Amino acid sequence: MLELTDTHCHIHEADAGLLGNNPISAVWQKDPGVDTDTMIREGLEYGVKNLICVGTSLEDSETAVNFVQTRQNSWASVGVHPHEAKDYVNSPNKLQKIRNLLEKHKVVAIGECGLDFHYSHSSPTDQKRLLRFQLELAQEHDLPLIFHIREAFEDFWPIFDEYRGIKGVVHSFSSVRSDLEQILSRGLYVGLNGIMTFTKDNRHLDAAKAVPLNNLLLETDAPFLTPAPYRGTICQPKHVRVTAEFLSRLRGEPLSKLAAVTTTNAKELFKLT
Ligand SMILES: [Zn+2]
Repeated sequence: MLELTDTHCHIHEADAGLLGNNPISAVWQKDPGVDTDTMIREGLEYGVKNLICVGTSLEDSETAVNFVQTRQNSWASVGVHPHEAKDYVNSPNKLQKIRNLLEKHKVVAIGECGLDFHYSHSSPTDQKRLLRFQLELAQEHDLPLIFHIREAFEDFWPIFDEYRGIKGVVHSFSSVRSDLEQILSRGLYVGLNGIMTFTKDNRHLDAAKAVPLNNLLLETDAPFLTPAPYRGTICQPKHVRVTAEFLSRLRGEPLSKLAAVTTTNAKELFKLT
């Protein structure tokens, strides 16, 4: 029986109602028939036995932490997405609340955090300050980080390299070999998701093939990035199986091996017990 791990999803928002104008819960609201317990059960039927609910803001991280307390084989990540940086960098109160949340049971990572220059919801300066805060938290608490880096690797590496002993994953990787080499040279993991099943860029597939199995993690980013051929429906943890099957064919690796090693990797990085 397969054991897959969705190392990056946002399903805790599905039952939480609209939190402000949170873009994630807005996606879940498009399909009111989707509920979290059904998603978890269906995930199990597809072999998705472990999942990490990833926070993107203080409120969202609190929701994730509360959500996983009553659910088996679910863990939470606490952090602030770069889009939100402007609302945090001048709020010591909010930053302290993020720090406090790390003490809660089943918090296994910090993130998602990083730099996103594709959108300009927050300035690069604010994004960098917030990234540094979260890198410092990771050092203080000896926790791995879940990085969201979009069109920003050039600015990311000089900051990352100032901090020692950082472990983590570059989530939603879809880029070229040279970016992959940079990630691997720092001993980071690479998170692949449904993008691989529908990308038109062969260089990204070429890089996905080249990720050493020992550095690979699987994820969905649910409710986003539904893999082909299910585009047009809301992404759920069960879809990690579709991405795993696709990667098994792409990389010429048995599905059982891909599932087993990526789950072992997740358990090691996030200390899932
Ligand atoms: Zn995400």
